[in-house]
Amino acid sequence: MESIVAPVTPAIRVEKLQKSFGQRRVLDDISFLVYPGQMVALIGPSGSGKSTLLRHLVGLTCASRGGSLVALLGREIQKAGRMRRARRQERCRTGYIFQQFNLVGRLSVLTNVLAGNLGRMPRGRALLGRFNQEEKARALRCLARVGLEELAGQRANTLSGGQQQRVAIARVLMQDADVILADEPIASLDPRSAREVMEILQRIHAEDGRTVVVTLHQVDVARRYCQRAIALKDGRMYFDGAIAELTDERLQDLYQNTDLDEL
Ligand code: ADP
Ligand code: MG
Repeated sequence: MESIVAPVTPAIRVEKLQKSFGQRRVLDDISFLVYPGQMVALIGPSGSGKSTLLRHLVGLTCASRGGSLVALLGREIQKAGRMRRARRQERCRTGYIFQQFNLVGRLSVLTNVLAGNLGRMPRGRALLGRFNQEEKARALRCLARVGLEELAGQRANTLSGGQQQRVAIARVLMQDADVILADEPIASLDPRSAREVMEILQRIHAEDGRTVVVTLHQVDVARRYCQRAIALKDGRMYFDGAIAELTDERLQDLYQNTDLDEL
């Protein structure tokens, strides 16, 4: 019987992605799909290519030649080693969260969140500090969702690391990104702040249906917050599936020389 359900456009489509730096191939034949609303952990030992892969998804790095294809929400952003310059409106649909937060430290928390809106503004108004009341009200609502409304007026560099990462999340909420890519967002945080950040990511995924791909160092954290894992090893796909199927034996093989208790 023919299906009457319209096919869903994947949020992320990666096909035969290859990347070499000089002679070294750091991503080799990577293919996967992520559907809208999934929360996926990207795991693998240090140097396995996780950050390089995420950078391809936002167009910060260009694929090597071959059959490489990267498409976001149905639009190709890279094909056969050529990068399509995404229009500003398209770029807005992907938000990036960094290990080191990347806020502008001397500016207020509120201004940092408002900056998430810059890509949507006409060029003439793309200047920090020139936002209307409606935008400010929306930025405050984004801050409220990460529990930091009260710190709106403080300089960003006076906040703790965990608070700064929550501001960075408020910034991608302001951007209203459909796809959120987070590269080791909790790697420099204490356990309690790390938990708060993961809970917020999970909440915006569950409540808003946003797609989240998060690289994580700790497999136990991935297990707690994500249903699916993609694992890389030496630049190749090692595992893609339900995280529950990632057995200790497989993890031992993935992280060969690392003590599993440390993960
Ligand atoms: P991970 O995030 O999993 O730790 P990376 O994606 O940062 O891994 O790195 C994968 C491999 O690519 C590493 O061997 C790294 O040294 C190499 N690499 C990353 N970026 C560059 C670059 N700009 N130039 C050369 N080699 C790079
Ligand atoms: Mg990395």
